[in-house]
Amino acid sequence: MAPQGNSSRKSWTDMIKHQKEQETLVGLTIPYEQGTSEKIRRIARPLGVRTVFSSRNALRSNLSKTKPPQNQTKNVIYHIPCTCGKAYIKETKMPLNVQIKEHRKHTTKGETTKSGLGEHAWKEHHNILWEDAKVLNTEIHW
Ligand SMILES: [Zn+2]
Repeated sequence: MAPQGNSSRKSWTDMIKHQKEQETLVGLTIPYEQGTSEKIRRIARPLGVRTVFSSRNALRSNLSKTKPPQNQTKNVIYHIPCTCGKAYIKETKMPLNVQIKEHRKHTTKGETTKSGLGEHAWKEHHNILWEDAKVLNTEIHW
């Protein structure tokens, strides 16, 4: 028995898996509805899916009040929508413009293990709406 080949392959899959776990992929942005929304959040949380409820108006007015200078903001929760209506929501320590550049690079190159957004775009054949990326809030506590 000489399991060298096997063991190296195993560490490779482990690494991919580990990266994916760190990524905390797709969040859901759904319109708030009393009762239903809480239920969805309870179901989604154990799966590692962050759920954000928003009425579009509330979100917009909140954004215009805080007006974070997006290109310099750090430690923000950002939101990048897809044409399918899902949105990628994640926290970043990088300035948002740098973070978006990273995602775009990975997505263009098809480096789906490095970006949950890239993975989504390639798997589902969707277009990410990069231009609509925005900072949700710099002080959300989950
Ligand atoms: Zn999509």
